[in-house]
Amino acid sequence: MSGGDMLDFEIRPNPAPVSAAERAALLVDPGFGRVFTDHMVTIRYADGKGWYDPRVEARAPIPMDPASAVLHYAQEIFEGLKAYRRADGSVTMFRPEANAARFIASARRLAMPELPAELFVESLRKLVEIDRDWIPDAADASLYLRPFMFASEVFLGVRPSREYLYCVIASPAGSYFAGGVKPVTVWVSPDYTRAAPGGTGAAKCGGNYAASLSAQAEAIEAGCDQVVFLDAVERRYVEELGGMNVFFVYDDDTLVTPPLTGTILPGITRDALLALAAASGHRVVERPVSFDEWQADAASGRLREAFACGTAAVITPIARVRHPGGEFVIGGGEPGRASAALREQLVAVQRGDAPDPHGWVTH
Ligand code: PMP
Repeated sequence: MSGGDMLDFEIRPNPAPVSAAERAALLVDPGFGRVFTDHMVTIRYADGKGWYDPRVEARAPIPMDPASAVLHYAQEIFEGLKAYRRADGSVTMFRPEANAARFIASARRLAMPELPAELFVESLRKLVEIDRDWIPDAADASLYLRPFMFASEVFLGVRPSREYLYCVIASPAGSYFAGGVKPVTVWVSPDYTRAAPGGTGAAKCGGNYAASLSAQAEAIEAGCDQVVFLDAVERRYVEELGGMNVFFVYDDDTLVTPPLTGTILPGITRDALLALAAASGHRVVERPVSFDEWQADAASGRLREAFACGTAAVITPIARVRHPGGEFVIGGGEPGRASAALREQLVAVQRGDAPDPHGWVTH
């Protein structure tokens, strides 16, 4: 099938959509990841045939054979991004082409077929178009889009599947921080690492998250909000959180974030913040930061702020760091100025309230 044909999705509207009144009730406080829209996108893949049968259809359970490869060997990847409704009624997405590129990189690492970027972006557009009434109106709200792909071949041999299903589902998301931006306490895991050199750390595959859950549970048990992972080789350098990248802000206005060496996820928020920070006069440096350095610089006051960043919460200040040997506080435990300013700048671009010199916003 040629690229042009592939963009012709078959549209099968949901014959029994949620009523407008019920939808309005669900959108009052949708939280995160529990409420879903009326439709989903599906595209199939088979070796020798390529991508075929692109559809927008009623969201429904996916019948699956118990021997489907994904259920055994976890050949699965996903993405996450948001669509916003603007005051003028138009709907936009933030850097979907970057998600498409990361989806391709993840597919390569997991020995899966590459979904063309154009098809990926078009699949998001199609779903947002048909389910646009599900985008909440509240200032901080959005429609979270979750594209994913898994091995659907019915076969128990350990090799790349020859069949895949790509889907997109959408979930209205309320304001992530109903009570405003709240600084978090993070837990430095002594036992668990997230990704080793040569592993899948840079891919957005379900397996990475499955492997992070014990560490996250340990964090919660220690009274913390999130886990921070150290590198798997020396257990010395700060890598990232379970679902967010990390930044450090020094007293000379330098912003530092760990480099993309293959063990951390190349966050799209991380990339956008590096560009915004540089444009607003910060020095930005990608270099490893050791846990010891983090602790010493927080104590001396040289480190003013630390924050986590990602699609879901944009920027989350890190106020406290707990580890088996004790804990330390950053910047007196208060949200920092640079974090707040960068957050405001990025949200303004995402919402269309500021110029978009990088062309990050897609209509
Ligand atoms: N690291 C991990 C492990 C993540 O799951 C995420 C969320 N996708 C991020 C970083 C941040 O990435 P992004 O800014 O693209 O949401």
